[in-house]
Amino acid sequence: MSNQSEKIKCLIIGSGPAGYTAAIYAARADLKPVMIAGMEPGGQLMTTTEVENYPGYPKGIQGPEMMEDFRKQAERFGTDIRYGFISSVDFSSRPFKVVVDEKQTILAEAVIISTGATAKWLEIESEQRLRKLSGGVSACAVCDGFFFKGQDVAIVGGGDTAAEEATYLSKLCRKVYMIVRKDFLRASKAMQRRVENTANIELLYNHATAEVLGETGVTGALVKNVKTGAERKIDITGFFVAIGHQPNTSIFKGQIDMDEQGYIKTIPGTTKTNIEGVFASGDVQDKTYRQAVTAAGSGCMAALDAERWLALMGIH
Ligand SMILES: Cc1cc2nc3c(=O)[nH]c(=O)nc-3n(C[C@H](O)[C@H](O)[C@H](O)COP(=O)(O)OP(=O)(O)OC[C@H]3O[C@@H](n4cnc5c(N)ncnc54)[C@H](O)[C@@H]3O)c2cc1C
Repeated sequence: MSNQSEKIKCLIIGSGPAGYTAAIYAARADLKPVMIAGMEPGGQLMTTTEVENYPGYPKGIQGPEMMEDFRKQAERFGTDIRYGFISSVDFSSRPFKVVVDEKQTILAEAVIISTGATAKWLEIESEQRLRKLSGGVSACAVCDGFFFKGQDVAIVGGGDTAAEEATYLSKLCRKVYMIVRKDFLRASKAMQRRVENTANIELLYNHATAEVLGETGVTGALVKNVKTGAERKIDITGFFVAIGHQPNTSIFKGQIDMDEQGYIKTIPGTTKTNIEGVFASGDVQDKTYRQAVTAAGSGCMAALDAERWLALMGIH
């Protein structure tokens, strides 16, 4: 890439479901979008196998195959997809200045941020090995719970998301072990009551995971009482981790309004951020739903918001 700066109308940062959907709409609206795909072209779904809940695929589809379809559709309408990452942004003047791969500067009239979020893991060897093998380790109960229907599973975490996902799993699975490091749940009182009153959830307070067991698929977990040191083996086929997500927003710090967890704030019902002309879509601004279809939906909204804003500004 050259050192010269290039001026464009619409820049899309990220190539997950949100970014690609924004690209399809922006390209069809003739905004000539440039997309910077990031370190993980295709986004989070590149790391999964079967996706069964995205409409339009009645038989289900492999995550990477689905993202390939997204890419082809975005390219069909002329999206300029580039493989690199945004290393810094300057939203203090217009057009906005963004730097690609610490080298090339792009000046963009409108920017759509779709940089997603990354699930936090326990980072123990067995968890990561089985996760990479798609062997029954997941960070999304809504996505993968169905695969464990009628089986015994465990979920790690004590916050609202973990409690909500434990309740979700309890409706599908025979038994749910909830592994909680502290001797209480951080979840809201209502969620706590719901978990405690669900017959097939067994709360393992003061417990941490020592190891996820299994060679190619989860067969159990070794959990340890953090107070007594006593170990216990639980028999499970699914291991869910719900200890939070990290939005990919470090490059936007100080440039744009975020909440205390680093999610980009958008005006409710829109993808508009506090900076006119900068829009955010997908998991980077959504800590509630975190699904491919909701990310895609907000990607569509971002492109429409950007198109209307550019028109209002008389930028053609
Ligand atoms: C293992 C797994 C399985 C899942 N299964 C399902 C499922 O079955 N159904 C479902 O609906 N959802 C599922 N999800 C959730 C779904 O993947 C996410 O909700 C969705 O991918 C969010 O889309 P997004 O476009 O917001 O972000 P992401 O998919 O996270 O994409 C973010 C993009 O931003 C790019 N990026 C980040 N930083 C930069 C930067 N500095 N410069 C340029 N680009 C950058 C990345 O390279 C990436 O392309 C699953 C998630 C995981 C992890």
